[in-house]
Amino acid sequence: METLPFNFAIENYPLAPLTLYGVGGPARLALLPRNLDEARAAYEWMARQPERHVVLGGGSNVLIADEGFDGIVFVTTALDGIEDLGGDRYHVLAGVILDRLVREVMLTHNYNMVGGLTGIPGTVGGAIYMNAGTVNGSTCMLMESVDVACPEGFRVIPMDESLYSYRGQSFCSRGCLILGGTFRFSPTEKDQQAIYDHYIQRRKEKQPQGRCCGSVFKNPPGDHSGRLIEACGLKGTRKGGAQISPLHANFIMNEDGATCADILWLIDLCKRTVFERFGVALEEEVVHIH
Ligand SMILES: Cc1cc2nc3c(=O)[nH]c(=O)nc-3n(C[C@H](O)[C@H](O)[C@H](O)COP(=O)(O)OP(=O)(O)OC[C@H]3O[C@@H](n4cnc5c(N)ncnc54)[C@H](O)[C@@H]3O)c2cc1C
Repeated sequence: METLPFNFAIENYPLAPLTLYGVGGPARLALLPRNLDEARAAYEWMARQPERHVVLGGGSNVLIADEGFDGIVFVTTALDGIEDLGGDRYHVLAGVILDRLVREVMLTHNYNMVGGLTGIPGTVGGAIYMNAGTVNGSTCMLMESVDVACPEGFRVIPMDESLYSYRGQSFCSRGCLILGGTFRFSPTEKDQQAIYDHYIQRRKEKQPQGRCCGSVFKNPPGDHSGRLIEACGLKGTRKGGAQISPLHANFIMNEDGATCADILWLIDLCKRTVFERFGVALEEEVVHIH
């Protein structure tokens, strides 16, 4: 590209440091808008380009190809802002760290369903896109509306149960951008701080700490991917610098300079072995950017 379109556009931008896995090559072009106006302008420009583009939030659920991404990566992490609208409603920008929303807003006011969002890394935008959550609830359940930019324009979409599912949603297809959204919380009598502390402690005990993406696979209906992988005897299997965690089989760790190819090799091994043994087709929760 001869002239860069914005002063917050950078060519050949390393992506590995933007992700929790810490693997992968650079983006041909990264857009790093610092506020909503820049984000809107950058998105409109990006949507007109013939190249492929992808959005990156906190990088806690992505696996970047070793070759990087030969297109445009739109990074949301500087889109920061929580506005109290009154009546337990808050407008939150996509780049706000989810745990900040939980601690500063939900815990401060003892709002219900803290257990659904406790301990999930990444941004609010990523949590909305993934409908991130736990058995205790998920992000989209707490929302009134979501602000989405698509090639056709900007829209405020009223949230509805029919628009989201387990780790998925239908209001923002890949290539569109969630700019933020309005949350509507409910105060409760139950001590949410105690619930937060409980789940943080539980994660420390039950989940491996280190470079990873959390659960690699979604849970198949009525079962747990971790249980199936463990039953195949794959816990602890290594490939290069990557390892299926000996603590939790649905976690594949970057132990020691893993490449994306190492991690993909283990993902493929899990899928093949679980299918051969149990006839269950595991589906990735982690998003492979390539
Ligand atoms: C230790 C650990 C524990 C975890 N535990 C959980 C858990 O309990 N429950 C759970 O659901 N997840 C869990 N995760 C996965 C991950 O944290 C969530 O999916 C998180 O919501 C992703 O947010 P992010 O900002 O990091 O998104 P990213 O990883 O940056 O992106 C994930 C996907 O969302 C898209 N995206 C991100 N932001 C936007 C945006 N603004 N607009 C449009 N698309 C966007 C990306 O294109 C990509 O497809 C865990 C991860 C780790 C590392």
